[in-house]
Amino acid sequence: MNLDYSAVKYKTAEEEKARLEKAVEEYGAKMRETAKKLKKSMGEKEAEILEGHIAMLSDSLMLARINENVESGCVAEAAVDTVCTELYDLFFGLDDETMRCRASDFKDIKDNLLAVLLGVEKADIAFVPKGSVLIAKEFTPSIISRINKDNVSAIVAEAGERTSHSAILARAAGIPAVFSATCATQLIKNGDLLLVDGFRGRVLTNPRKTEIAEYSKKQRAYTDEKEELKAFIKKPAVTKSGVKKEVFGNIGNAADVKSVIQSGGEGIGLFRTEFLFTGRISEPGEEEQFEAYSTVAKSMDGKEVIIRTFDIGGDKRIDYLKTEKEDNPLLGMRAIRYCLKNTGFFKTQLRALLRAAYFGNIKIMLPLISSLDEIRNTKALINECSAELDSEGVPYRMAPLGIMIETPSAALISDLLAREVDFFSIGTNDLTGYTMAVDRGNAAVSSLYDTLNPAVLRAVEMTIKNAKSAGITVGMCGEAAADERLIPRLVEWGLDVFSVAPSSILKTKRSICKCE
Ligand code: PEP
Ligand code: MG
Repeated sequence: MNLDYSAVKYKTAEEEKARLEKAVEEYGAKMRETAKKLKKSMGEKEAEILEGHIAMLSDSLMLARINENVESGCVAEAAVDTVCTELYDLFFGLDDETMRCRASDFKDIKDNLLAVLLGVEKADIAFVPKGSVLIAKEFTPSIISRINKDNVSAIVAEAGERTSHSAILARAAGIPAVFSATCATQLIKNGDLLLVDGFRGRVLTNPRKTEIAEYSKKQRAYTDEKEELKAFIKKPAVTKSGVKKEVFGNIGNAADVKSVIQSGGEGIGLFRTEFLFTGRISEPGEEEQFEAYSTVAKSMDGKEVIIRTFDIGGDKRIDYLKTEKEDNPLLGMRAIRYCLKNTGFFKTQLRALLRAAYFGNIKIMLPLISSLDEIRNTKALINECSAELDSEGVPYRMAPLGIMIETPSAALISDLLAREVDFFSIGTNDLTGYTMAVDRGNAAVSSLYDTLNPAVLRAVEMTIKNAKSAGITVGMCGEAAADERLIPRLVEWGLDVFSVAPSSILKTKRSICKCE
């Protein structure tokens, strides 16, 4: 959305004020209408956010400040920009958590009001018509979580890569997606007929009849294959020589459990808890987290549920958390590093996890480990939490502790790390990026991002070998666990658990069954 107002010319203060008044009215009406629809489709909580925006705008003090700027010679757009930015900075700098969370509201109000003033059409992705394909420069994880799956047939983005978090979320939601589609927003026009091939990363605009026929055939083959794969829902993944492997599902929220169970997943190998933070304006507290974790554990009915502690930072920046802007976020305050720096925040999650473990087969997993100390410091915090829960008389269970092997340093010292934990899970998405020194979301260097590169494969093999020598379980929860080209090697090396997107569970089981 282009919100550049540099070409807008100032006429008179009266005219600018009249434009502003009209825009505020129009925006208020739009928000009230959207809030009404949201209440029906998503619930009270989401609608309350928009109602809050209307209330903020009706605040005469805010409008008075915008008008003051207009009187001193600013066009309405500049006045809105200045005041909303000032308020954003003011709220973002506050220590009070609740007030700080309001900062992003001012950014939303600013963008929406500017869109109305400039006459820029702002599509609301929650209400697009059935059969729509969404095209954007970028889909952030929070935008993906707002997409109405029933109406959106596919998404196409100029930025991102197949293992970026937005792509992972789209896959988990079962939305066909193509990323790194250069210039898509310029080349594709509203109303174009599109063929989106998520398997091959192709987008055909206004396809010929022959292409439509070819893709209809492919679609039928895909539907037939899905039917065939149903045979594996109840079948265990056993190799021809009789070795049983576990096939688990990766999830981003409690609702995803349903698709894991429906696809015959035998456990949850990765619950990406950081997605509890997206699409909202404040962080989830202990009770809310406890609810989410225990709900998943109970739904899995005694089956293993591996919950990963927050992997915040990197390409998963949360606006309302007061994080420093970093030049190299993927090498900075991400995941376990952020948590160990913000121990109060981390302990809230650890307490919720220990409490939820009382109600199911939960295991705790730490992301982005690169040193022994990170594990030892986390254990100390877990012990503090258990002592607190003991003294409060709150029921809990000490859950087994595992780590992700997703940095080259962790793979290289996996023999030492294996002595400290109960299990490993190899995160090939990051391991590939860090081993090859490639940003996994950067399309410009994507040719180097190759999980099958011998450097990455050596790290994987070494990790499995070291886990086996130490007698601990080793799984893989990166996208490569579902790669049919790699599965025979992983089986040969002795990988125990394959944790994949729910949509890949059945195919992974079939591939394992074909192995020697
Ligand atoms: C990985 O890095 O392989 C992984 C599973 O974690 P994420 O994709 O969430 O970074
Ligand atoms: Mg990772």
